[in-house]
Amino acid sequence: MPGTELFGAEERKEIEDVLSTGIMFRFNHEAQRNNIWKAKDFEEEAKKITKAKYALAVSNGSAAIMAALAASGIGAGDEVICPPFTYIATVEAVLMLGALPVFAEIDETLCLSASGIKNAITPKTKAVCLVHMCGGNANMDEIMTVINENKLILVEDAGQAFAASYKGVATGCFGKAGAYSFDFFKIATAGEGGILVTNDESTFKLADSYCDHGHDHVGNNRGMENHPIIGFNYRISELHAAVGVAQTRKVPFIRTENLKHKKTLQNHLSKTEGISFSKLGDDNGDSGTFLNIFLPNTEIAKRTVDEFNKAGVSGFNYWYTNMYHFINQWDHIKNLKTASKLAIQVLGAPQDYNNLNIPKSQEVVGKLISFGIRCTWTEEQTKELAEKISACVVKAMQPVNA
Ligand SMILES: *Cc1c(COP(=O)(O)O)cnc(C)c1O
Repeated sequence: MPGTELFGAEERKEIEDVLSTGIMFRFNHEAQRNNIWKAKDFEEEAKKITKAKYALAVSNGSAAIMAALAASGIGAGDEVICPPFTYIATVEAVLMLGALPVFAEIDETLCLSASGIKNAITPKTKAVCLVHMCGGNANMDEIMTVINENKLILVEDAGQAFAASYKGVATGCFGKAGAYSFDFFKIATAGEGGILVTNDESTFKLADSYCDHGHDHVGNNRGMENHPIIGFNYRISELHAAVGVAQTRKVPFIRTENLKHKKTLQNHLSKTEGISFSKLGDDNGDSGTFLNIFLPNTEIAKRTVDEFNKAGVSGFNYWYTNMYHFINQWDHIKNLKTASKLAIQVLGAPQDYNNLNIPKSQEVVGKLISFGIRCTWTEEQTKELAEKISACVVKAMQPVNA
């Protein structure tokens, strides 16, 4: 959790600015706010990193995905191709909008593959919600070909991939709109926060209104603003945005440090039999937030997890059994357990979620173990971790006695 490791004077200063005026609301109050606009500053910092034309700071990454989908025209009854390996927010956003998730295969990039997307297309497919998982990037050239050939809308959940890119373009900036999360577990945090990006002015305006009860944000009399569309409240507070500003400025440093540590780990671990690494669409565009190792198969990965636990190795995720990141544990989604009726329960699910045929995703997530990289590690600590990982894998690779 690199951002949280560096919480300090810079964050405090930005928060103090807001406290000095007491204006915690991101809009209006020009006379009292002493020209302090932290949400706007957060958006500018995000634009510097992503080079997106428009950025909108919102309450969290989940809201950013929801707004990205809504502003891209995704709604009731639309089939949206999603990965079975993602943070669950992606799927929730699709469902809450009344749209219908269709699960497709991922590959060794940990993201949807072009062939996975292609095989999941039906006449009702409207969009693809591509997730750049574990700090990396998908195979964008191949994916964009499928998107364009089939005239689909691309929305990107780059919740875990802020500061990642593919051939020089930021993840999140390939489709109609993209979303980043700044929750407590990401490369940078606002405490709670999200950023929506788009290069399209009308998509931005829809998102801007969608996240603030429809307000068009024209003029300086909030109560008299027009409301071109129905929206809701996904606003970020100035206090959260203040933290986001300071943290986002630290991201280039964090990325550099993390990539250095990742390289050290990979150099060391590549010598251990049984260890390989997840792939990147573009090796130069990694955000460096995770070291993603592959074991030969699920069984050996599970044994490795046991060895890690025995040896006291921490800081890793075995997503295959994680309740929130992999479909095998999403019984509430599979059985549509909801607080109140959603559109999918009226329209019918587009797939039998209890009998999905996704062997490639099962294989890839089964053999994957991810370590969150810490930017404050010393070279010594990094090497020590590599040695521990390596020793555990050596044990896990030994044949089990019958
Ligand atoms: C963290 C995350 C989200 C959700 O972001 P929040 O800010 O926690 O709402 C969505 N998608 C992915 C891939 C994430 O990792």
